[in-house]
Amino acid sequence: MTRLIFLGTASALPTTARGNVALALLGDAGGQGLLIDCGDGVYRALSRAGIGPDAIGDVFITHAHIDHIGGLPSLIESFRLAGRRRPLRVYALPETMRVARALMDIFAFELTLERWSYEISFTVVDEDARLTFLDAPTQLYRMRHSIPSAGLRLELPGGVIAYSCDTEPAPAIVDLGRQARLFITESTFLRKNEAFARMSKHMTAFEAGQQAAACEVGTLALVHLGEGEEGWSQAEASAEAAESFSGPIILPLDGDTLEL
Ligand SMILES: [Zn+2]
Ligand SMILES: [Zn+2]
Repeated sequence: MTRLIFLGTASALPTTARGNVALALLGDAGGQGLLIDCGDGVYRALSRAGIGPDAIGDVFITHAHIDHIGGLPSLIESFRLAGRRRPLRVYALPETMRVARALMDIFAFELTLERWSYEISFTVVDEDARLTFLDAPTQLYRMRHSIPSAGLRLELPGGVIAYSCDTEPAPAIVDLGRQARLFITESTFLRKNEAFARMSKHMTAFEAGQQAAACEVGTLALVHLGEGEEGWSQAEASAEAAESFSGPIILPLDGDTLEL
């Protein structure tokens, strides 16, 4: 059994109800949890979900935008203050890891990792990497965003979970999400703001539905919601995605949990 927790579901601008997008996946084995992205407030979101400082073993950072990586130094420091002991492994594309390293270097006076209470490793990965998260074979796919970004496809015993992270529609999404039980993708804009979606290389809710249909997925979950920035409602996004995808569509709230 795998537990998926939507730690944050907003896009770059958090709202009163939603934090920067982040996901946690927990398996049956303790300490093997996977955290995907660490923007602002991710430690607090983990605490609220009852996920302790040693429960996450791996952190995958999808890309180097602030809402996905900006909280890395404070997450590492918070884990230390909370008494973490287990090793922590951080994974990212080479372009993303350069930013992660720079963030760590800025705080080198405080994040003295050689004298840390737990080990941290930083591993550069790309599409040829043979990854295993939660004991599940995991494939990385480069997406099409304004900077290099990577989505993940996890072949879990209960079915495939695919997460596109930030991207505009791209052929690689069909490989990433092919017949996934759950396809989690971004929906930063509505169709009325499609021009902004193209400019910033994001998706509209309608396009998210199109991608889900092309992938023949079971359930579509919309995250990275731009409602705070654009003033649109969940109902509008859901209705728009339903024009292009006939399966179940969910718009999780922060803290919502799914079991697979
Ligand atoms: Zn983002
Ligand atoms: Zn982004």
